Amino acid sequence: MQVKDSRVLLQDQERILRRAIEHLGLGDDVYEALRHPERVIQVKIPVRMSDGRVKVFIGWRSQHNSALGPYKGGIRFHPAVTMEEVEALSMMMTWKNALADLPYGGGKGGVRVDPHALSPSELEQLSRGYIRMLYKYIGPDTDIPAPDVYTNPQIMAWMFDEYYRITGENQFAMITGKPKQLGGLEARIIATGFGTAVAAREVAKKLWGGLEGKTVAVQGYGNAGYYAAKFLHEMGAIIVAVSDSRGGIYSSKGLNPDEVKKVKNMKGSVIFYEKAEKRITNEELLELDVDILVPAAIEDVITSENMERIKARMIVEAANGPVTPEADVYLSTKKGVVIVPDILANAGGVIMSHIEWMNNRIGGYISEEEAKRRLEEKMSHNTRRVWDFWHSEMDPSKHTMRDAAYALAVKKVVEAMRLRGQL
Ligand code: NAD
Repeated sequence: MQVKDSRVLLQDQERILRRAIEHLGLGDDVYEALRHPERVIQVKIPVRMSDGRVKVFIGWRSQHNSALGPYKGGIRFHPAVTMEEVEALSMMMTWKNALADLPYGGGKGGVRVDPHALSPSELEQLSRGYIRMLYKYIGPDTDIPAPDVYTNPQIMAWMFDEYYRITGENQFAMITGKPKQLGGLEARIIATGFGTAVAAREVAKKLWGGLEGKTVAVQGYGNAGYYAAKFLHEMGAIIVAVSDSRGGIYSSKGLNPDEVKKVKNMKGSVIFYEKAEKRITNEELLELDVDILVPAAIEDVITSENMERIKARMIVEAANGPVTPEADVYLSTKKGVVIVPDILANAGGVIMSHIEWMNNRIGGYISEEEAKRRLEEKMSHNTRRVWDFWHSEMDPSKHTMRDAAYALAVKKVVEAMRLRGQL
């Protein structure tokens, strides 16, 4: 997965925050108080490689804001991770968690490494080493990590075990996205894509009375994209196009998401699905005349360069930051496109993590069906709340749905900071 220039990512976050501060009529002091993370920790993790040498990896944990509760956010292992990127993403987590009404602040972690180049034993040492350097700053009431780009339930299990070895506390709730046997929920796998589909369905009800028969194009067919396509299909939409990094496919009659997934698993890409009418490029997919476009791959795919050619009536951001701030304003206010913002549309993962964390804390049991039902309820409620705020407190011809989501989230954090005497 490509990672956007981290300084641009941070600048985008700062621009979005500034817009929200202006909408709320707040001052520069509030902007300054929210712009910087509360704490950023840099760590050095030595790993004994298979050839006997010691290799050092650099990692970070950024803890952006804790006014609403313990920091919460994933840990990514990626060769291009930087401190600025982790900072920007921790800020985004503050708003995502606040908007979802979760009792969490925002955090994010990362290690600069290509995990695919490590042996399983090296990967385990790295995961344990990260926790050894950070255990004093994390915990079920302090900061709760989770999987992110190129980290997975096995890595969470090693991290959980290392925390136990050091502290003696067998605390499942110190990390989420764990394997089922260690207090995790299998529904975490579907959570982001399912949540995206629910958000799309709620907005479709407002725009068209429902999703039935609406055409959908999905860019990216990984965890978020595949499950978004699968559940949108189950909800009655027609998936006319999907893509991955090698290209896309189109079928006016509709694609079966599970069949396409089987082909991708077997042959490595959706482009080998033979029942499609034709192959298309990723650029063509984004410009299709569809009702709903779901960018679910990487950042910055809808920009000032292609925004005039976008024909979708609704864009649902499963990926983080797929629409640049400029394109967001242009498409929303000039072309009337409804853009369901990332902090709302892809919050399913962290909402499911919250269900896992609550369950771990009470030592309880929850069925996968119940977890999915609660996620659906929360996603539909949150989407309706942002929509209603956008229409009652703002002017949708001038303000974007992102403006509404950020205004709600920033307002909530600012109120908590005021009550705590931090502002
Ligand atoms: P993933 O690695 O499972 O899938 C990514 C997909 O995008 C793959 O199919 C890949 O082939 C495709 N892709 C990569 N580069 C592409 C390109 N240039 N053009 C078209 N397709 C391309 O990743 P994921 O977990 O599904 O995450 C996708 C996006 O969703 C990311 O922005 C991520 O930050 C965001 N997100 C994911 C989750 C989650 O729980 N999975 C939660 C929140 C946000």
